Amino acid sequence: MSDMVDNIADNVKASEAGLPNADAWMDLLRAKVETAAMNGSDMGALEKLIEESVKELARPILRYGAQLVADQQEMRCPDCDSELLMEEHERERKVNTVFGEIEIKRSYGRCKSCKKRLYPADHTLGLQVRSPASPRVQEISSLAVLRTPAGRAPEDVRRMTGLDIGASTLHREARRQGDRALRLREADVALSNTLKGLKELSKRAQVPNSPYTLVIEIDAWNIRERDCWGETEELRKKGEDPSRWHWVYSGTIFRLDQRGETASGRAVITERGYVATRQGVEALEKQLYAEALQRGLLKAKSVLVLADGAIWIWNLAESRFKEATHRVDLWHATEHIWTIANDLHGRGTSEARQWALTRISWLKHRKDGALDVINSLHEIRDSLDNLTNKQCETLDREIGYFDRHKDRMDYKNGKALDQPLGSGAMESTCSQYQCRFKRTGQFWSLDGDEAFLALQTLHWNERWHWLFPHDRKKE
Ligand SMILES: [Zn+2]
Repeated sequence: MSDMVDNIADNVKASEAGLPNADAWMDLLRAKVETAAMNGSDMGALEKLIEESVKELARPILRYGAQLVADQQEMRCPDCDSELLMEEHERERKVNTVFGEIEIKRSYGRCKSCKKRLYPADHTLGLQVRSPASPRVQEISSLAVLRTPAGRAPEDVRRMTGLDIGASTLHREARRQGDRALRLREADVALSNTLKGLKELSKRAQVPNSPYTLVIEIDAWNIRERDCWGETEELRKKGEDPSRWHWVYSGTIFRLDQRGETASGRAVITERGYVATRQGVEALEKQLYAEALQRGLLKAKSVLVLADGAIWIWNLAESRFKEATHRVDLWHATEHIWTIANDLHGRGTSEARQWALTRISWLKHRKDGALDVINSLHEIRDSLDNLTNKQCETLDREIGYFDRHKDRMDYKNGKALDQPLGSGAMESTCSQYQCRFKRTGQFWSLDGDEAFLALQTLHWNERWHWLFPHDRKKE
């Protein structure tokens, strides 16, 4: 039996110079399967055996196809389309593919206008400079690192794809794709600065013919990073913690008509845009605007901005979405009511409860509910002599809060229009990001964070095919 297998294996190998001999390959595989079957193999072992064997067949075919692409490649610059000055013919390159390593030969030239040396075939094939990974390997590395803590990623990848890729390679490949995602994001932001660009971004929006409302929710959450790589021990000796929490600014965008329910009645949003950045409020503002344009900002009948009471959010909304309706999250406002109730009447007392529920009901059902709340707070502040200093402080602070946001508290009208009153969609967005970026023991650097945030965001925004054109859905 094993002699026969060896003979057939030699046959398959001999044909590997060109395209594989499929008959010889089939004979070999059948012999292996029969041997395994006679030894009482389980199906998992059969699956693995066949998987490995299919790679042996696929690898030369892939090499053949990739070489065909390279051979037909015109020597033109992929960036400016001018003709390249040929510098070297048929230089070899190794590529790690899902079927194993292959070698291809391609030519190399210089673009006079871009002043760059490049391999146009690499560009066409989706291979990147100084990276051995094929597009599928780039993609698998990216997904693995986005989903699994780096230490465990190699094991998952090996079990799911049969590929042996070390942790640092996985991380490096994913990071490379993250950097590409960052450049794409920057290009979108740049487009939003010109009239022509605005039109281009708006054209990407798939919007209904009927009038629609666009909802924009904004929030921030924090992420743990290690700031001082290589200095950890030194800092520890000095009693300093090298890790720090940093803010991630984020937003989510959807149309009212994209809200729906699952069969079990749970609220869902069928499609939406995501934005997340570590680069501060100004960066968020630009990215949010570019994303909103791609979600139909310019054609929206109305726009609603929903968030908690943070000042930076409302400054952003005033500067970028001035015409929008602004709304402070109802649950956020009711928390403020509960704080006052507990301070005035004692935490958990029935008086506190009664007092709070009355005012929450005003907020929800009265046209000027927020004004009524403010007036009632003033009344208490002015009429009660026996208030403690702390109670006075609470009242003054909360009068300020409701006064600042009273125009953002028209919950009655919001409900009548069937709009969201709370920013639940944003909270679920944050927890999705946090789930990945806030894992215990997860330390990244500022640059790395931003690249992975951009990669994750591009994925959730359903633009994966911008990086991996083979993922484009068949029309
Ligand atoms: Zn060029």
